[in-house]
Amino acid sequence: MAPQLLRTVAEVSAWGAGLRRAGRRLALVPTMGFLHEGHLSLMREGRRHADVVAASIFVNPTQFGPKEDLARYPRDLEGDLARCAGAGVDVVFAPTEPGAMYPPGYQTYVEVTEVSKGLCGDRRPGHFRGVATIVTQLLCLFRPEVALFGEKDYQQLQVIKALNRDLHLGVEILGMPTVREPDGLAMSSRNAYLSAEERKRALSLSRGLGAAQALSRAGTREAAALVEAVRRELRAADLREDYVELVDAERLTPLATLQPGQPARLLVAAFCGATRLIDNQSIGG
Ligand code: AMP
Repeated sequence: MAPQLLRTVAEVSAWGAGLRRAGRRLALVPTMGFLHEGHLSLMREGRRHADVVAASIFVNPTQFGPKEDLARYPRDLEGDLARCAGAGVDVVFAPTEPGAMYPPGYQTYVEVTEVSKGLCGDRRPGHFRGVATIVTQLLCLFRPEVALFGEKDYQQLQVIKALNRDLHLGVEILGMPTVREPDGLAMSSRNAYLSAEERKRALSLSRGLGAAQALSRAGTREAAALVEAVRRELRAADLREDYVELVDAERLTPLATLQPGQPARLLVAAFCGATRLIDNQSIGG
C-alpha cells in the first residue's frame, strides 16, 4: 500500500498526536532520499520494533558545505515513495520547500562537541552541526520510540547517540550494518555520481578495509600497518585519500594499536574523481 504522504510540519504534528492518543509505537527512519537497499533495510528493521514506520525524505541544506553537492544531490520522490511502499513504510514526510525545516526566524542549532571532532568533522566543517540540528528537529517533531540509522555513516551515528543521550530525548537509537553491493561497495546515494570506470575504482575502499581486517585477524595490532593496508588499495586505484584512521569505536579517539577487548573502528574517506566516498569496518576487539 502507498504510504501516507505528509508535506508540512503541521501535518506531522497532527498525525503524531493521533498516533500517541492511539498508544501506537513509532519507528522513524530519517533520510535524504534517492533510496537504496541500505535505507530500505532500516525501514524493514523499523517494522520489527514498532507498530508504525515513518520515513523522512529531506535534503538538509545545513549539513552541506558551500562547495558541496547540495544543488545536484540526486532526487526521485516518486520512485522513493514506491520503494517505501515496498518496504512497508506507513508514512513519508517529504517537505515541499527546501527551507521547510528552517523557516524565517529559525535560530536553534545543535552542536555535539566531542564525537564531532576528527574524521568527517574536521574535513567538513559544520556538517555534524547540520546533521545534529535536523535529527534533533525530526526526533522532537515525530517523538518516535525508535529511530534507525546506518553504520555506513559511523561518525554520524555516534553524534546522534550523543545528542539523544545528552538532550534526554529518550529515543532508542538503533545502528544497522552497512548494506553493500554484491562486490562489496557500500551502497550510497552518491554512487549515482560515479562513471562506470570510477565505479570499479571505488571498490578500493571496501577492499582496503577487508585487507586491514585480514591483517588484524592474522595478529597485526599497529594502526600504522592497518591504515597502510587501506592506503595501498586507494593508491592502486588512484583515489585521493581524505583520511584513513583507526579509532576507539565509541569515543572515536585515535588509536595507535589495537588492544584486546577494546572495540575499534577503521574509517576511510576518499575522492573517486569528484565524488567523495566513505566506508568503515569494525576491527579487532
Ligand atoms: P542518507 O539518505 O544518506 O542521509 O542516509 C539515511 C540513512 O540511511 C542514514 O542513517 C544512513 O547511515 C543510512 N544508510 C545510508 N547508506 C546505507 C547503507 N549502505 N547501509 C545501511 N544504511 C545506510
